Amino acid sequence: MSEAGLIDTRRAGGIDRAVEFGPAELPRLAAEALALPGGFGIRLVGVRSPRGLPGLALSVSGQVRMTCQRCMQPVDIELRSSARFELVERLAADVQDDDETWEKLEHSDRLDLRQLAEDELLLALPYAPKHDSCTPSGRLEAGEKTSPFAALAMLRSSPRR
Ligand SMILES: [Zn+2]
Repeated sequence: MSEAGLIDTRRAGGIDRAVEFGPAELPRLAAEALALPGGFGIRLVGVRSPRGLPGLALSVSGQVRMTCQRCMQPVDIELRSSARFELVERLAADVQDDDETWEKLEHSDRLDLRQLAEDELLLALPYAPKHDSCTPSGRLEAGEKTSPFAALAMLRSSPRR
């Protein structure tokens, strides 16, 4: 990734950047999917947090191909997510914050937009991807042909030693 993907957060107010990352630029996401059919649209805009601090609004969208947990066939999932970050000088782990819609992010002159976007896409991955409608995989039914009772009966009928 070139310098173009690095953001100086102290200039967050003026940021309005739209980029597209290809599958090769998102290796951690690619590792979680069967395939990444296309690129991912990323937008980063400078905003103000409710506390009046500088912040960043990130939105990401694109498609991942995963294995449907019902029919075990590939399914293309539309990922669309957004996050808001409040920029702070230093992250304080001990401070309780009741506003969970704004994540804290430390100021940096080299914030990696690709990294930030990939984190957000990973969080947006469905836990159990499924087609809207499909037929369950035949594997389970095949496994049930031998019922546990039949197996028990066979054990009982076998001669003891
Ligand atoms: Zn399916």
